Amino acid sequence: MEKTSEEESWVVGSGGPLYLWRVEERWDSFRKRHVSPYGSTAIKRHHWRGRGQPETPLLLFRLDSPPRRQHVPVLATPSSLATAVEMTAVERLKSGFEQFKKEVYEKKPDEFSKLAEGQSPKFLVFACSDSRVCPSVLFNFQPGEAFTIRNIANMVPPFDKTRYSGIGAAIEYPVVYLKVENIIVIGHSRCGGIKALLSTNDDGSTSTDFIEDWVKICIPAKDRIKKAYTDLSFDEQCSKAEKEAVKISIENLKTYPYVKEGLEKKTLILYGGYYDFVTGAFDTWEA
Ligand SMILES: [Zn+2]
Repeated sequence: MEKTSEEESWVVGSGGPLYLWRVEERWDSFRKRHVSPYGSTAIKRHHWRGRGQPETPLLLFRLDSPPRRQHVPVLATPSSLATAVEMTAVERLKSGFEQFKKEVYEKKPDEFSKLAEGQSPKFLVFACSDSRVCPSVLFNFQPGEAFTIRNIANMVPPFDKTRYSGIGAAIEYPVVYLKVENIIVIGHSRCGGIKALLSTNDDGSTSTDFIEDWVKICIPAKDRIKKAYTDLSFDEQCSKAEKEAVKISIENLKTYPYVKEGLEKKTLILYGGYYDFVTGAFDTWEA
């Protein structure tokens, strides 16, 4: 295929992975500083506009060799287009906060002054710590809307005052004092914590300080899946277990006296959920 334009050369260009930078300004100095030294084989200017967001100039290119560590770019994926920025960690945090302040905080002064007085979230959300499944991003939760607990594989341990006091406190506070009305436990696709659960040794031996011990909370899910789906591959078993573990967590939630009471008085509803980021689907059900 003949390269007739810069755009086409990007499309057909070979080389390393596709990188993407947000181009702030000063294209020429940017190009000299960051692109040329790494032997970029193809370049394209690109514009992207997210829903309700201003147009962002982006630069897409391939590199022959990896960029210097301090200039590690964000790999281009559709979901990262909006935030793909070549910056140091501190610059990234500051720029993210500036964007939030300008686009959210300063646009809703009334809401934020109300939130300064207190919170009354409607949701208590359990989600995995996995960087791909942030509930505020997925559900567009606004500040004050969801009290969130994130841990490895979104697990709810049973009521235990000494062993699980951290999670216990994070359940007691929103249920008893903030009076949340909905609790949702959200599992997700390709969960590393669930993989660890299904990989635990049957003899109880461990090779990690905390991980295996933690994910054993949902060992009944492992047992059920291994028994019911002997013909499935490990990955397929994991995907079944991601959903089964949510059920275990929901059962465990009911061992907390205030949760049980809320269910009896019908002031509280429990939900399971599953987010599949491979297909982009979300499913939820009342538990
Ligand atoms: Zn996970």
